[in-house]
Amino acid sequence: MKSCFYKSTRSNDLTITSSEAIVKGLGHDGGLYIPVKFPRLEKTFDELKCMNYRELAFYIMKKFLTDFSEEELLYCVNNAYDEKFESKDIAPLVESEGVHFLELFHGPTLAFKDMALSILPYLLKTASKRLNIEKEIVILTATSGDTGKAALEGFADVDGTKIIVFFPEDGVSQIQKRQMVTQRGKNTFVVGIEGNFDDAQRGVKEAFADIEFNKEINDIGYMFSSANSINIGRLVPQIVYYFYAYLNLLGEEKISQDEKINVVVPTGNFGNILAAYYAKKLGLPINKFICASNNNNVLYDFINTGVYDIAREFKKTISPSMDILISSNLERFLYEISGNDENMINGLMKDLKENGKYEISNKMKEGLKDFYGGYIDDKKTCETIKEVYDSSKYLIDTHTAVAYAVYKKYKAETGDKTKTIIASTASPYKFTRSVMTSIKEGFENYSDFDLVREMSKLTNKDMPIGIRDLENKEILHNRKCKKDEMKSTISNILNK
Ligand SMILES: *Cc1c(COP(=O)(O)O)cnc(C)c1O
Repeated sequence: MKSCFYKSTRSNDLTITSSEAIVKGLGHDGGLYIPVKFPRLEKTFDELKCMNYRELAFYIMKKFLTDFSEEELLYCVNNAYDEKFESKDIAPLVESEGVHFLELFHGPTLAFKDMALSILPYLLKTASKRLNIEKEIVILTATSGDTGKAALEGFADVDGTKIIVFFPEDGVSQIQKRQMVTQRGKNTFVVGIEGNFDDAQRGVKEAFADIEFNKEINDIGYMFSSANSINIGRLVPQIVYYFYAYLNLLGEEKISQDEKINVVVPTGNFGNILAAYYAKKLGLPINKFICASNNNNVLYDFINTGVYDIAREFKKTISPSMDILISSNLERFLYEISGNDENMINGLMKDLKENGKYEISNKMKEGLKDFYGGYIDDKKTCETIKEVYDSSKYLIDTHTAVAYAVYKKYKAETGDKTKTIIASTASPYKFTRSVMTSIKEGFENYSDFDLVREMSKLTNKDMPIGIRDLENKEILHNRKCKKDEMKSTISNILNK
């Protein structure tokens, strides 16, 4: 089997193994790691069709993680995708309203982040063992609400690691916050920041890039790594479920051999949709990538104009996991459509840093032709939840509703009848207030937790394990800091 090596999007001088890329998280030059050359799948869809989720995950991930032994990767996959997922399919497809909802939220924290973050700790531990790293690994994570809890859950009490999560104190749902501040595990640290997700992400990236600070941390026995989707170890596991969904449709004869499909992804940091794009590079027949945004519509503008411009107001919405203006993974996509041009990426990222915007070349704009960008506001999100519920009694969360509404817009504009998968990224239980008040009046005075019970009654189903008893769990974290105090907060935690 050919080895898969990695390099940064911003320089060409260094290629490293997958273990190194996973442990480091972010390139020394601030760039993101990408495969030097994308692997190929030798097996046909007919052969892959018979695999269960774990087998498929092993097969696909092995192509990227070529320096992991088979035993090591099997160990990672088998420990990640086990009973902690409440669906034995791991990522079931639900047909409703003429589309296929790919439910990615059956993991322990009820959002699609579990798909990658249940395996990342195993990958990271294996990689650090391979590399004989003796330092304790400190996972720095910025979260818009879902990554934080999924990463905490994944890394809690994992030997040789500590995890520090920064979340926007006023930017997440009540349930998201409660999930994080009740996290157990003596290696877990949760910090609310006075600022938004972009501030948190910027702070984390700065901590990574600060040579002095890293040296200081190194001297006391630590090194940083990342659980954000800037880590390639987050993206590789996400490629799997696009194949899984396609193969399921094929197995059920909902599509024919090599038939193209569309994918719709509610997008924030551009990680999930990039994983779909990578799936296409591996041979998955995807027709359109439909990138759905909320009122933070910077990606919509980018896809339509080729100009990425963050000079706009940051808006808090009811789909908070997508409240992002700087989508980090776009850099990996830009690298692809630039024809692997590091200089171009450096230029664009410099423009972004210095002027808050960049414009891609006409040649690069051609690379956007398979993408459709759309956005909708909160009102339309609520209407969409109600519409889907009234029509089919299928309850979707706010993020999935954004995706579905943008898909409907796309379909109305283009008449495209290609079969379509919608990435359903969170359980409605995570956003009970927005979801329940969308479908019925009279819930104004209910707490988010009362609404969990109401939702369970309404759907006549037990509430997911991840949310049971959450209300009564002890609050274990109450650290807060200002957005310019993140480094000192990290120091304080590690120097204890
Ligand atoms: C993180 C998240 C998103 C955005 O995914 P990206 O990979 O950052 O684009 C969408 N929906 C939910 C529920 C999320 O948690």
